[in-house]
Amino acid sequence: MKPVHVIGGGLAGSEAAWQIASRGVPVLLHEMRPVRMTDAHKTESLAELVCSNSFRSDDRENNAVGLLHEEMRRLGSLVMRCGDRNQVPAGGALAVDRDGFAAAVTHALESHPLAEIRREEIGGLPSEDWDSVIIATGPLTSPALARAIQAITGEEALAFFDAIAPIVHRDSIDLATAWFQSRYDKRGPGGTGADYINCPLGRDEYEAFVDALIAGEKVAFHDWEATPYFEGCLPVEVMAERGRETLRHGPLKPFGLTDPHAPQRKPYAVVQLRQDNRLGTLFNMVGFQTKLKHGEQLRIFRSIPGLQNAEFARLGGVHRNTFLNSPKLLDATLRLNAMPRLRFAGQITGCEGYVESAAIGLLAGRFAAGERLGEPIVLPPPTTAHGALLNHITGGHVDAIEAGPRSFQPMNVNFGLFPPLAEGIRRAGAARTPAKKQALSARALGDLEHWIGSHPAAAAE
Ligand SMILES: Cc1cc2nc3c(=O)[nH]c(=O)nc-3n(C[C@H](O)[C@H](O)[C@H](O)COP(=O)(O)OP(=O)(O)OC[C@H]3O[C@@H](n4cnc5c(N)ncnc54)[C@H](O)[C@@H]3O)c2cc1C
Repeated sequence: MKPVHVIGGGLAGSEAAWQIASRGVPVLLHEMRPVRMTDAHKTESLAELVCSNSFRSDDRENNAVGLLHEEMRRLGSLVMRCGDRNQVPAGGALAVDRDGFAAAVTHALESHPLAEIRREEIGGLPSEDWDSVIIATGPLTSPALARAIQAITGEEALAFFDAIAPIVHRDSIDLATAWFQSRYDKRGPGGTGADYINCPLGRDEYEAFVDALIAGEKVAFHDWEATPYFEGCLPVEVMAERGRETLRHGPLKPFGLTDPHAPQRKPYAVVQLRQDNRLGTLFNMVGFQTKLKHGEQLRIFRSIPGLQNAEFARLGGVHRNTFLNSPKLLDATLRLNAMPRLRFAGQITGCEGYVESAAIGLLAGRFAAGERLGEPIVLPPPTTAHGALLNHITGGHVDAIEAGPRSFQPMNVNFGLFPPLAEGIRRAGAARTPAKKQALSARALGDLEHWIGSHPAAAAE
C-alpha cells in the first residue's frame, strides 16, 4: 500500500501520523527539525510544546476543551495518551511535563512498524507521485513551503499574521442597552438591515474608554515576529493613541444608527458586533484586533454599555501565524479544493491551540486513512467538539467582506461553535450557564458514541 505523507511532526502531524498507522496504513512523516529549526522550537522532538505546558481545562462537563480531551481519548489519540501519562499537578487543568510528553510521542511513532520518520524540510509542493499528503506545518511553516502553498491558493489566501478581534457569546449581550441594526439599515448581500449588534457610548463613556485603551497593559511581540501592523488593520489601542477622535471616525463611528431605547439621543460613539458563525451564537467586535493583555480586555471591554456581562468565546490578539482562508479553500474533509491530494491539519487550518491542532490532526489522519482503505468518509456530528471545530474551519464561519483584516481568524474550541440545544435550559440566573454547558457536553458525548458505533473505524484502536 502506498504511504500517506505527513509534512510537519508537531501536535497535528504527530497525531495524524499515529491515526493513519493505527488504521493499518503506512505513513511517512517529514519533519524538518533539527535540519532546519523554527523561531520558536528548541528541540528536535516531535510534538514539542513551544510555550506553555498546559492543555488547559480537563473538565469535560463544563469546558469545551475538556470535552475535546475526552472525545480525543475515546478516539485513541496519541497526544492525549502521552499527555495523561506525563501529567503534572495543575488543579483542574491538564498540564504535562513537556520533555516527557514530547519524548513519549516521538518514541511511539519511532517504534510503530508502519510509521517512518524523515528529518527533512519539504521546500516546495509535494512531488506528484505523493497522492495523499497532509500538510501540518503549523504557524511557523517554513518560508519555502509557505510560498509554494501561496502559489496555488493565491496571495490573499494564506496569512502570515492573525489579527484577532474578540468574539462574544450572543446570549451574554444585554439587548436592553444594545440593539440590532445595520448602518443606514443597509441590507447588503444576504443581510436583513439589522445584522449588527450596536452598543452606544456617551461622550464621557467614550473618553474614559479611549483613556483605558491607551493605559491598558499590552503584550509585547517576540523579536522574531517584527511588527505586522498595516493601515486598515491597526490594533484598536494603536488607533486610540493616534488621536482622541480616531476611533469615533473609524470602527466606533456613530453615524447611520439610531438607538431604539432612546431615539432622541444620538450616541457619541457606537461599538458594533457582527455575526461570526452561521449558527448566530457568536458575534465579533468589529475593528477590535488588539495586543491588550487578556485580563485588560475583559476589564475594558466589559465597560462598554451592553457588554457588562459579556462572555467571551475568544479574546483578541495579533501574532505571527500562518493560516489558510480555510472556509473558502478546503472541502469538508480538509482537502484543498484546487488540489485534493493535499489535505491540511493543525493550526494552519485556522484552529488555535495545542489540543485543537492535535484534534484536527486526528480527523485529517482518519480521513486520509479511510480514503486509502476505500471507505466512505463519515464526518463527526457537528454537535461533538470535533464536529463543531471542523465546521468552524470548513464552513461554519460567516465571511464579511470589509476593509481591515480577513474575517476568518483562528479560533479555540468553545461552546459557541456548537448548535444550540433543541430545548432551551429553563433554569434561571447563574445556574443557567453551567446547566447549558453540561447539556451540550452530554449531547456531544452521546453523539460521539453513536458516531463511533455506526462507523466502527472511528473507534479507538
Ligand atoms: C510562539 C508560539 C507560542 C504558542 N503558545 C501556545 C500555548 O502556550 N498554548 C497553546 O495551546 N498554543 C500555543 N501556540 C499555538 C499553537 O497551538 C501551537 O503552535 C501548536 O503547536 C500548533 O500545532 P501544529 O501541529 O499545527 O504546528 P506545530 O506544532 O508548530 O508543528 C509544525 C511542525 O512542522 C514543522 N515544519 C514546518 N515547516 C516544515 C517543512 N517545510 N517541512 C517539514 N517540516 C516543517 C515544524 O518544525 C514543526 O515541527 C503557540 C504558537 C506560537 C507560534
